[in-house]
Amino acid sequence: MNYKIGVISGDGIGPEIVKEAKKILDKAGEVYGHTFSYDEILMGGVSIDATGVPLTDEAIAQAKAADAVLMGSIGGNTSTSPWYQLPPELRPEAGLLKLRKSLNLFANLRPAYLYEELKEACPLREDIIGDGFDMMIMRELTGGLYFGTRVTEEREGLMTAVDTLTYNEQEIRRIARRGFDIAMKRRKKVTSVDKANVLDSSRLWRKIVEEVAKDYPEVTLEHMLVDNCAMQLVKDPKQFDVILTENMFGDILSDEASMVTGSIGMLSSASLNDTKFGLYEPSGGSAPDIAGKGIANPIATILSAAMLLRYSLDLDQEADAVEHAVKRVLKEGYRTIDIMPQEEEKKSSVTQVGTSEMGYLIAERIQK
Ligand code: NAD
Repeated sequence: MNYKIGVISGDGIGPEIVKEAKKILDKAGEVYGHTFSYDEILMGGVSIDATGVPLTDEAIAQAKAADAVLMGSIGGNTSTSPWYQLPPELRPEAGLLKLRKSLNLFANLRPAYLYEELKEACPLREDIIGDGFDMMIMRELTGGLYFGTRVTEEREGLMTAVDTLTYNEQEIRRIARRGFDIAMKRRKKVTSVDKANVLDSSRLWRKIVEEVAKDYPEVTLEHMLVDNCAMQLVKDPKQFDVILTENMFGDILSDEASMVTGSIGMLSSASLNDTKFGLYEPSGGSAPDIAGKGIANPIATILSAAMLLRYSLDLDQEADAVEHAVKRVLKEGYRTIDIMPQEEEKKSSVTQVGTSEMGYLIAERIQK
């Protein structure tokens, strides 16, 4: 089958890491009998340079016409790049926010997985890590506190700021369904995180999540208060499979979960709407400090491409093959500079490679 992939290479290391992810998709296609055609979409600084705006209507139309979009990263050095002299709505990041909105990407998925070989990057104690952890944070991305009405005004002689946290049942139901669907592809456990002891929005969240859970009898549902979840993530991360939560809680918890895994160059992410469509990108930025040096770690983008195969194209075997190839390369001791071990004696047992060699090594290990 042929799949049409929109590709946003973007700025900084974006083009370097996307090139490797395309290499991986092509190899997976060759092994499993698919073809991928790529449509280059301009967004971010490169779009500003070419068109004057970070995202054109034409670019949005291109993204909508694709089966899924694979993205590198956008943006430049925020202190020195002329892009950051522009008004906020014309800066590179405004393109990404506009794209998320135009495509109604309400569900953000961020896996936190600890590779056996990268255990030393994990700041947690050995006895807590055990034989590793593998969780998925499912965060609501277009509602809640970040999108509610806000005002700062003088009230009874005092400057007062108000932010509003609103969720309706439809917004909760659609993200909950996504969370349970993902759990069905994993270890079939959902931890729904809220603050139902205090917030009305959380009490509605809990009620709707329980209703949705009835349609997924194979999935175990538990509720956890957000403060407890923040503690449990560092006390016993192994207990989690899918963490389902609202926008602000997810913002904080997903960063906490990713930090306990170690390197930013390993962290993939996906943003989904209510069709199969999704935008897949590494969690890191455009890393202008290392752009063009051929040393960026392409693994987060390669793992994002694996998520694309799994969640937008339903190619689970192909996604497994890519993830397996990444594990093999790490097991064989290949590392980009950001995941090289610190201690000298450990360094001797691993081989440092650049961006394109890492892509090549992973592609070579994709097999049925
Ligand atoms: P960053 O994530 O780009 O870089 C932080 C550090 O991590 C740097 O030292 C960088 O070299 C390193 N790093 C990041 N990705 C790496 C990789 N794949 N391999 C090896 N090392 C890697 O964050 P920043 O410096 O705060 O931001 C730089 C630019 O990226 C800014 O313009 C910012 O707005 C933008 N940004 C874009 C996105 C996105 O495209 N979704 C996300 C975050 C930041």
